[in-house]
Amino acid sequence: MSRGKLEAQRLLNEIGITDPTAIEINKIAFGLGATVIEKPLKNSDGRIVFSKSRTIITINSGIEFTGKKRFTTAHEIGHYCMHRDHFQAHNDTDATLQYFKKGHQETEANEFASELLMPEDLFKQEIQGKKFDPELLRNLADRFQTSITSVAYKYFELGGHPICLFYSFDNKVRYWKRPENYPHYIIDRTKLSPPEDSVAAEFFDKEKIYRKTDSKQPIWKSTWFELKNWENDQDFKFYEYCIITPKYNTVLSIVWEEL
Ligand SMILES: [Zn+2]
Repeated sequence: MSRGKLEAQRLLNEIGITDPTAIEINKIAFGLGATVIEKPLKNSDGRIVFSKSRTIITINSGIEFTGKKRFTTAHEIGHYCMHRDHFQAHNDTDATLQYFKKGHQETEANEFASELLMPEDLFKQEIQGKKFDPELLRNLADRFQTSITSVAYKYFELGGHPICLFYSFDNKVRYWKRPENYPHYIIDRTKLSPPEDSVAAEFFDKEKIYRKTDSKQPIWKSTWFELKNWENDQDFKFYEYCIITPKYNTVLSIVWEEL
């Protein structure tokens, strides 16, 4: 198990919590010795400043969604618990709060936050027997009071339906991941713009953002995947759902096949 996940489980055990929504995240931080304050931050969602007396976690008051504030706070608590002796000072932004970021302190802090807010057992219980769609992700974000992006990554890890993730920023694909043994081959577009018939491209080209009810959009297999010459696009049912953050000009595309 990853260190971040292990540390979060240890903390939950220690404070005797099975459902993290039962306690305010700021109180968990306070109990550990860190004070959380909110104020406007430029180009940053959160940051942490260590001190011998009291560590200060600052969360950008401009963050629109409570779930995202909670996830950012949990990420900073992760830094506090695991990295305080050799911390690499940084601003946490949309990029560092994504799981793709390989810097190991960021990965650990995200794995920590994910487990602190969505303990594995509880998450599995909540998705059991439920069909995968954007509505499920939104419901899970409500249920666990966390960001929808963090739910998408958690579902990628633990969910019953295989999904692929593509993270684009400034009209360029930056990272992608697919489940192990996924039967379709992804066309690598890293550093290139998203495919022109993708939902991500609709946002970058035309600023199109679908309403909740239309957020599951049909796409071709060939949009993101290699179409073998014996295959026909008509024979596949692929969908793309985009989590868009206009403020940072980022899109997380969730792509899946229905059989
Ligand atoms: Zn960080």
